[in-house]
Amino acid sequence: MPAKLHTWNGHRGPVLAERHGGTVIDCAACGYKHAVPLPDSETLKRFYAEEFFGGFHQDYIAGQRKDLPWWRLEFSAKYRLLAGLLPPGRRRLIDVGSGAGWFLQFGAEQGWDTVGVEPSQAACAHARDELGCTVVEGFFEPPAIAGLDPADVVHLNNVLEHVPDPGAFLETARGALSPGGLICITAPNDFNPLQEALVDLRGHEPWWVDPREHVNYFDGSSLEALLLRHGFAARRRLASFPLELFALMGEDYLADPDLGRVIHGRRKALEFALHEAGKADLLAEMYGKLGELGLGRTLTVIGEKLD
Ligand SMILES: [Zn+2]
Repeated sequence: MPAKLHTWNGHRGPVLAERHGGTVIDCAACGYKHAVPLPDSETLKRFYAEEFFGGFHQDYIAGQRKDLPWWRLEFSAKYRLLAGLLPPGRRRLIDVGSGAGWFLQFGAEQGWDTVGVEPSQAACAHARDELGCTVVEGFFEPPAIAGLDPADVVHLNNVLEHVPDPGAFLETARGALSPGGLICITAPNDFNPLQEALVDLRGHEPWWVDPREHVNYFDGSSLEALLLRHGFAARRRLASFPLELFALMGEDYLADPDLGRVIHGRRKALEFALHEAGKADLLAEMYGKLGELGLGRTLTVIGEKLD
C-alpha cells in the first residue's frame, strides 16, 4: 500500500512514521526526511540555551569524563581525516554546539586552533574555566561569529538533526569558512537498511523516530544532497559502528534496554583493541567503507566549500 501523502506549509511527501505526536515525511521540497509541523525556532533556541544543559552539573560532567578515553579515539579519527584533506598550516576549527568543550580541548592538544560556539552558559563556563578553551556564547548565526577569523573547518556534531532550518546552518558555515574550507557534519543515520531489517524481522516500532527531540532524519545521500544545495561538495563519509548488528546477531538491545550498555561496551572494546594493536588506520578504513554502504549508527560527512 503506498504511503499517504502529507502537506504542511510548503513541505510535502509520503508519511514514513507517526510517533510521539509528530509525523515524519520524506519531504520532496527539502530533499530529506523531517518532522511536521516544524518547531518554532525561537522556542527551540530557548530550550537549547536554558534547558538542554539544565542537568549540566558535576554528575553529568563525571558521566562524560568516564567515556572520554573512548571519545578521544573518535576525536582522533576525525581530526586525522580532516588534517589529511587540508594543506599543512590550515588548522583552524570552529566547533558548533561545543558543549563541555572536550572536542575543542583534544584539537588544541593536537596543534589545532579551536574555538567553540555554544548557547548554554553552563557548558561554556566548563569549556573555558575547566579546560581553557575559547568559546563564543551564543547560537551559530552570523552576528555571533562576526568577530571570528575565517576557519578551515566548521564541525557540527549532533546538531543538524535538532534544528528546523539546517540549510541556514550550512549558509552560516559557508560564511565562516576560508576558500576550500571543510564542513564536517555528524548526524544519526536514520531509516538505514539495518534499522529497517529489524523493523521487518522483529516487529519493532521505528524506535529512532522521536520528533520531540529530532526534527530531521538524515542518511548519507540526503546529507550530501543538502550540502551540494548549499555550495559544498562531499569528500568523505565515516560511519560509527553499526550497533544494529548486535540486535541482528541476537543481542536485541531494543527489546532489552539493559543490553544497551553491554553492546556499547563491546563496541568500545573492539575500538580500543584495534588501536592498541596499531590498527587504527584499518579501523578508520573499515568505517569509511561502511559509510559508503550507508551503514553506521551515525554518519560523518565531510564537504568542501565550492567557490
Ligand atoms: Zn520539507
